[in-house]
Formats: sequence, structure tokens, C-alpha cells
Amino acid sequence: MASGCPMMQAKTEHPCFGGDHGKAGRIHLPVAPGCNIKCGFCERRFDCANESRPGVTSRILTPEQAVARVRLIRRHMAMQGGVHLKVVGIAGPGDPLANQKTFETFRLVREAFPEMTLCLSTNGLLLEEKMPQIVEADIHSLTITINALTPATGARIYEWIRHGGRHYGGETGAAILLERQLCGLEAAAGAGLRIKINHVYIPGINDHETLDLAVEVRNLGAQVMNIMPVIPVGLFRDVEPPSDATMEMVRNQAELILSQARHCKQCRADAAGLVGQDIDVERLEKKRLAY
Ligand code: SF4
Repeated sequence: MASGCPMMQAKTEHPCFGGDHGKAGRIHLPVAPGCNIKCGFCERRFDCANESRPGVTSRILTPEQAVARVRLIRRHMAMQGGVHLKVVGIAGPGDPLANQKTFETFRLVREAFPEMTLCLSTNGLLLEEKMPQIVEADIHSLTITINALTPATGARIYEWIRHGGRHYGGETGAAILLERQLCGLEAAAGAGLRIKINHVYIPGINDHETLDLAVEVRNLGAQVMNIMPVIPVGLFRDVEPPSDATMEMVRNQAELILSQARHCKQCRADAAGLVGQDIDVERLEKKRLAY
């Protein structure tokens, strides 16, 4: 669990923000297929049922199907006893803020399940301009993925971004993205959201910026950081992922700056259940249809 911030642990049930991930369940609703940037490590073209990584989903849901899935998982978990669905999040498979269905889904979920904590993951490009909708949707927790602190490094990670109706590549695109991410973070912190920064750690590419990034985002109001080892796909398919010992060392160093989330399983965009003990949602849905 996230460590180093007892105040935060006392105030949230969100398993990825310091809540009890052995008891509090979460569900990711895959309603957001479109994306406005292209990360070099992002591969969303195929799905394998056994594959667990961000951006992967078995299918895209409509907002109504998403609400039905929340109802099913909530009931299923309650029947297991001792564990409960507490958090409903949208984490792709693209960027939730680049998809209007995201807010429609949150509205329906909030109406049907007023007790749920709502959570959103984004690349941050549209964060500042979408803040009014985020506040109106009553979203409690936000994850912003920031993988570079300079345009030069960003240009090695992001292939392109699309912003204001135009495509930008190289350092220009990376500079726009970084500026938008940091402004969005500051605006979200000012609005009182709980903020976690995800950071994909890519040896030889961005590892020299990780600790400076921790300082920067802490100063702008982030409360937790989640440093994740790169999964070797896409542009980085030949990169050697960092060892467990390297990840432990980096997280220990970063912990001196900002509370670290250490349990992250880099979940799929349609994950459901307890972190690390996902429910087979497709099977459950088929079973329900069979009755
Ligand atoms: S991807 Fe990581 S942060 Fe998101 S729900 Fe899974 S464990 Fe939590």
C-alpha cells in the first residue's frame, strides 16, 4: 500500500491511495477507447485474456453496460463476504478525458451508487480544461501519468500528441504535454482532489529524471507517486525492464520525497475486484446471461 502518509490513509478507502487493498475493491470501466497522445510503450491493438497491463480490455462498454457491470461486481463481492466494492474508476483503455462517454458514465454511476468513490486516470493533456466537469462529476481521486520532466526526454517516450485540433511530435509535442500536465496537476490539487502520479520507469530513457519529477509534483500538490517498471512492448519492446532490486532502490529514494504506492499491479482497463485478485468479469457476465 502507499506508505508514509498516515493522514491520507485515514481519509480514503481507495486501495491505490493508501486504503486497505485486502478489503476494498475497485473496478475499472472500459468506456474510453480514444487517446490524444501516443506513448511509445502503449500497445492497445490486441487483448489476451491472460494479459494484465494498462490499456488492455476485452471490450468497450457503453455507459449503461458499465453501470450494469458495477451492479454485478458489487453484488458478487458482497456475496463473497468481508470485501466490498468501494471505488469505481475509468482508466482507459485510451485517455478518459479525451472521451465524452467518461462523464456520462460517471453521472450514471453516481446516480445509481452514491456511496462509491469515483476515480480517474489521465495523461493530463486535457486536465486543466476539464476540471469543471471533473468537479461536477464528484471525482475524488485522480491519477496523472507523467513520464518525463524535460521535452528532450519526453520526445523519446511520446510519439505524438494531438491538441487543439493539431498534431505535434518531437520536443514540441512533449513540451506542450508537460506544461499541460503540470498546470492540470496544480489545478486539481487546488480543487482538493487526491492525486497520485504514475511514472513508467524506463532504464536509459527517463530514469535520470524520476527523483526530480518527485520533487516537482510534490511541490505542485501530488500526494502519492507510483513508479512502475516499463513493460517491454511497442517502441520499448527491446528494453530490459528494471530488476526488482532497482525498483526497490528507486522507490526508497523517492519515498524520502513523496509517499510511494508499492503494490500496483499495472491493472487492465477492465480490472475488477481486489487489487491482485481480479474477478473474471467476462465469465461472470456470461454466467449471469445464462440464467
Ligand atoms: S493499476 Fe495500480 S493504481 Fe490502478 S487500480 Fe491497479 S493497482 Fe491500483
